[in-house]
Amino acid sequence: MKSRIFIPFLSICLFSAATLAEKRHHDAHTHGAAELNIVIENDTVLIEFESPAVNLIGFEHKPRTDAQQLELQKALALLNDVEIIVSFEKGECRVTETHIRGPFDNADQEEPEHGKREEHSEFHATYSFSCQDASVIGSVSTRLFDHFPGFEAIRVRWVGSKGQGSALLNNQSTIFSIE
Ligand SMILES: [Zn+2]
Repeated sequence: MKSRIFIPFLSICLFSAATLAEKRHHDAHTHGAAELNIVIENDTVLIEFESPAVNLIGFEHKPRTDAQQLELQKALALLNDVEIIVSFEKGECRVTETHIRGPFDNADQEEPEHGKREEHSEFHATYSFSCQDASVIGSVSTRLFDHFPGFEAIRVRWVGSKGQGSALLNNQSTIFSIE
């Protein structure tokens, strides 16, 4: 029964995020900036992370050298470690599903036409958590700034039973509160 309520709730919550993503896509994304969207529904937490590729690997074209290929593999491996993206202070949350889309493995990604516009690409990742008690989650932290010096600011938007809010993180401010 839970999932029947959950899906419409999620699609409403993510609607504004999707609209923003769409808008940003047309405006071209901002290098150094990234988005972290958090939806808490009962004891499930969903995280959506989206970032220009340059923040994680330093380039946005397809890897041309072994070193660039290695950077890409390293970034994908780090994104698979969910504790780098977020950790919850309380709530006993365990990740149940991870989905990482690298910048060059999206089949429907448009190939830039030669000389028409700059090449841009993004990382996109979603994570689902199952928590013992999501209602006690107070603060959330990220280690993205420690692992990727390319981030300048990460915009967090969260929505849950207690309401919603947002925070702007940087390497001096990596913890935010969900209350
Ligand atoms: Zn770009």
